[in-house]
Amino acid sequence: MKLQGTAMINEKGHLSIGGCDTVELVQKHGSPLYVMDETFLRDNCRAYYQAFSASGNGEVIYASKAFMNLAMCRVIEEEGLGLDVVSGGELYTARRAGFPMEKVYFHGNNKTDAELQQAIEYGIGHIVLDNHYEMERLNNIAGRAGRTVKVLLRITPGIECHTHEFIRTGQIDSKFGFPLPTGQAMEAIQAVVECNNLIYDGLHCHIGSQIFELESFRYAAEVMMNFIEEIHQKTGAVTSILNLGGGFGIRYTESDEPADINDYARTVLGAVQGEAEKRGLTIPKVVVEPGRSIAGPTGTTLYTIGSVKEIHGVRKYVAVDGGMNDNPRPALYGSRYEAMIANKAEQAAEEVVSITGKCCESGDMLIWDVSLPKAESGDILAVSSTGAYNYTMSMNYNRIGRPAVVFVRDGQSAVVVERESLDDLIRNDRIPPYLQR
Ligand SMILES: *Cc1c(COP(=O)(O)O)cnc(C)c1O
Repeated sequence: MKLQGTAMINEKGHLSIGGCDTVELVQKHGSPLYVMDETFLRDNCRAYYQAFSASGNGEVIYASKAFMNLAMCRVIEEEGLGLDVVSGGELYTARRAGFPMEKVYFHGNNKTDAELQQAIEYGIGHIVLDNHYEMERLNNIAGRAGRTVKVLLRITPGIECHTHEFIRTGQIDSKFGFPLPTGQAMEAIQAVVECNNLIYDGLHCHIGSQIFELESFRYAAEVMMNFIEEIHQKTGAVTSILNLGGGFGIRYTESDEPADINDYARTVLGAVQGEAEKRGLTIPKVVVEPGRSIAGPTGTTLYTIGSVKEIHGVRKYVAVDGGMNDNPRPALYGSRYEAMIANKAEQAAEEVVSITGKCCESGDMLIWDVSLPKAESGDILAVSSTGAYNYTMSMNYNRIGRPAVVFVRDGQSAVVVERESLDDLIRNDRIPPYLQR
């Protein structure tokens, strides 16, 4: 496992993150435990801010769906980033954290009336329209509230990316957005400028996730700028914002080679500026929506190893006290992770084992075939790069409570999400009168 951020091996030969010994973190906060390296997290935010916003023409909005809670909203606000939300729940969390609503963008392919109303009530900055049904309802809801709402239109530009099929969203056969190549995107622009209560502010596209080729982003920028010119010629509408989505890839294992954020910024900002000049258009503000690349590398999940089972001549299963409940990505996408034994961080690998969870599912495998020092019951297993799409995708299958989340920094750990208790698991259960005794 590659040590990233503030992760290091301390004098006891243990993995330490944010100056905290991971073995002590488990003693203090229990296991499994999501550990977020706050310094690293803030460094990632700053790298994005510097690369995109410092130029004056870019804006970075963090995609909440990667990892979100009240404390995270505070960090994002302190680091000067905006927020992308996709549900009333994420919106509510941002509001309860006191996040400035004008810096929030609301996404989603099927927002409910209640969510649209909530967004208008809160005074949200932008709503990203996905379809005509939503456009019409939002126009009506805003009208009834006596308000106008700034909108972007989500466009599917028809770009295929070299990434896992389930996390490709820019190709035209997609549930998201108005398709560009079929002419439907232009029809949507013509419709939105007719809506009295909606203000057309710009376009959005998101071509996928865990993308490593900067060329994909450059191409998306070019296709969108071409469309912006067409919009201007056909309707006279000015596109002030070009939101190019998220998707910047991170390192999960050694086969992943992420690009540099500064190169990413230079590529997209340069492409937008170049295309604008070529076409005689005003340069739109460029928005990017990183989620994974801000939170992902900064998270580590700590587990306690329980049973170790060797099927002679076949495989050795090492079971941990978590699994697909706290990290469904291997089961969902076949995602690969790296791991180490946190209390044997200096010991050389001596066996190849497979890490399994504790759910009643054969598919509950965290890592197939990982090289580790001898794994024994009671050891602490650390799995790296679990900061994005782990906590937010966690679930209570088998009535297993979600782990706690701690921020670590300068030798201190702070709980930002409490571990779910047994009582939390039955909190919403009700016994109807005829079953009471
Ligand atoms: C998921 C998503 C993001 C964030 O993607 P990452 O791969 O985590 O950077 C940004 N924008 C939209 C619309 C998304 O759906």
